[in-house]
Amino acid sequence: MTKPIIVIGSGLAGLGLALELADTLPVIIMTKRSLHQSNSRLAQGGIAAALGKDDSFAKHYRDTIQAGAKHNIKSAVQLVVQSAPQRIAWLEQLGVQFSQDLTREGGHQTRRVVHVADHTGQAIMQVLWRAVQHHPNIQLLPYHQAVQLICTTTGTVAGVLVLDIRRQRCTRLFGQAVVLATGGSGQVYQHTTNPSGATGDGIALAYQVKAKLKDLEFIQFHPTALQLPGKPAALISEAVRGEGAYIVNHRQQRFINELAPRDTVSRAIVQQLTTGPVYLDLRHLGRQYICQRFPSITKQLKRYGINPATQLIPIAPAAHYQCGGVVTNQVGATTIPGLYAIGEVAATGLHGANRLASNSLLECIVYAHQASEHIMQRAKQQPTIKPKLIRQSLPMVISADTTSQHLRRQIQVTMWQQVGVIRQAAGLRQARDKLRQLVVQADQLCASGLNQQRLETAQLARVGYLIAAAAVRRQASLGCHYRLN
Ligand SMILES: Cc1cc2nc3c(=O)[nH]c(=O)nc-3n(C[C@H](O)[C@H](O)[C@H](O)COP(=O)(O)OP(=O)(O)OC[C@H]3O[C@@H](n4cnc5c(N)ncnc54)[C@H](O)[C@@H]3O)c2cc1C
Repeated sequence: MTKPIIVIGSGLAGLGLALELADTLPVIIMTKRSLHQSNSRLAQGGIAAALGKDDSFAKHYRDTIQAGAKHNIKSAVQLVVQSAPQRIAWLEQLGVQFSQDLTREGGHQTRRVVHVADHTGQAIMQVLWRAVQHHPNIQLLPYHQAVQLICTTTGTVAGVLVLDIRRQRCTRLFGQAVVLATGGSGQVYQHTTNPSGATGDGIALAYQVKAKLKDLEFIQFHPTALQLPGKPAALISEAVRGEGAYIVNHRQQRFINELAPRDTVSRAIVQQLTTGPVYLDLRHLGRQYICQRFPSITKQLKRYGINPATQLIPIAPAAHYQCGGVVTNQVGATTIPGLYAIGEVAATGLHGANRLASNSLLECIVYAHQASEHIMQRAKQQPTIKPKLIRQSLPMVISADTTSQHLRRQIQVTMWQQVGVIRQAAGLRQARDKLRQLVVQADQLCASGLNQQRLETAQLARVGYLIAAAAVRRQASLGCHYRLN
C-alpha cells in the first residue's frame, strides 16, 4: 500500500498542497484545532498578482525586493511573481469568485491585489474546505497536534508523533513525506493579529531535527491593529489605507505617508503613541463606500461600538507575520530529507527582510504547487527497504489544564517589551537569556504530563528564544528588524 503524504496544518498552504496531490497520492491532513482555524481564514486584503493593465512582473518583482530591503533571494521572487496569474486562475477553477477590481496596498506601486471584498481568506478557504472534505483520497484529522518528527537512523523524516487531543493519547503516523504547513508564530507576542494556534510549532519541530532555519529576527508588525483595552488586536486591513484612509495622532494630524512600508509606518506609530493615542480616520470616505467596500471590518467595528463613518478608530501595531522560518528550496524541500515546509513557516527567500503586503497567500499557493510536483516525482523513486527508526518513547498525556498559562504570559510580555518593533542590544540579550530559562521550565512541565496548552507553551518558548537569539546576532537594522543600538 502507498504510504500517505502527511500534511501538518489546514491553512491555505496545507489544503492547497493536499488538493494538488490527492488525485495521485493518498494524503493525511492533521491539524491541531478544527479544520477551520488558521491565519489564512482571517486574511482580509487579498493576493498580489501583476494582472493590471499598467502592471508587469518586473514591477511586482521590484516592489517585493524593495519591501524586503534587498535581502530577498532573487530566483524565489521571480518564481513567485511569474507564477501568480496561473495560481490565481487555479483558485478560480476551484470555484473562488474574486471581486472584479484590483485593490492597492502599501508598498505596491500600482493596483495589484486580487480580493473578495474584505474577506478574501474566508472566501478562499470555504472553497478549499469543501473540496478537501469531499476528496476520497484525503483523510482529515482535526484536533491532532504534531509533537515531534520521527526520523530514521539515516536522518530522513519518516513520520510524526501526534497528540490526539480529544482521546488524550499520543500515536505515531508514518508517511513517505511530511509537510510542515503550520503557519506563523504571532502568539509569541503579547499583541498579535494571529489566532491562538499561531504558536510557531513548525519552527520548533524543524529545529528539533536540526533543519536549517533563517531570518527569524524579521517579524513584521502590522501598523493598524485595533487598540481597545482588553480586546484582541483585530487587524484593520492595509486595503483601508490603500483606498484613502488617514492615520492621525491625538491632535487629528497626519504624520506619516499611509502607504509607506509596514515597518516604517509601525515605527512612526510607536513613536507617536508615546505622546497619545493614534487613530485610523475613514470618515472622509463616506458611509456608503465604507460599508460597501469594507463590510466585514465595518461589522467587526460595530461589535466594539465604533462607527467608522463617524468615529476615529484607535490603533497600534501588533505582531503579524513571520518573514523567516524553515529554509526551503524552490520546491519547498527543507535541508532534511523527507521534510517539506510551505507557507508562512517556510523561509523561501521571497520576503527578504520584510514582506510586501499580500505576497504571503501568494507564496502559499505557489509553493504548494511546487512542492506537490516534487513530491509526486519523488514518490516514483521511493526505496522499498524498511528504514530503521530512531527510538522515541510516547509521552504521558494528561487532560487540559492552566499550569502553563503563567509561562505563556511571561514569554509574550518578554517578546513584546524587548524583541518588539524597536529593539535595543541590552534588551535583546536579556530576552534571549530569559527565554532560554523559560524553555527549560516549559519542557519540564511537558515531561511531567503533556497536553495541548503545555506543548504550545514549550513551542512558544523555543521559538521566542530562537527569534531573540537571531535578533541579538543581527547587529545592524534591516527591514523590519530595527535596532536603536
Ligand atoms: C488577520 C490577518 C490578515 C492577513 N491578511 C493577509 C492578506 O490579505 N494577504 C496575504 O497575502 N496575507 C495575509 N495574511 C497573512 C496570511 O494570512 C498568512 O501568512 C497565511 O495565511 C499563512 O498560511 P499557512 O497555510 O502557511 O498557515 P495558516 O493559515 O496559519 O495555517 C496553519 C495551520 O497549521 C495548524 N497547525 C499549527 N501547528 C500545528 C501542529 N503542531 N500540529 C497540527 N497542526 C498545526 C494550524 O492550526 C493551522 O490550521 C494575514 C494574516 C492575518 C493574521
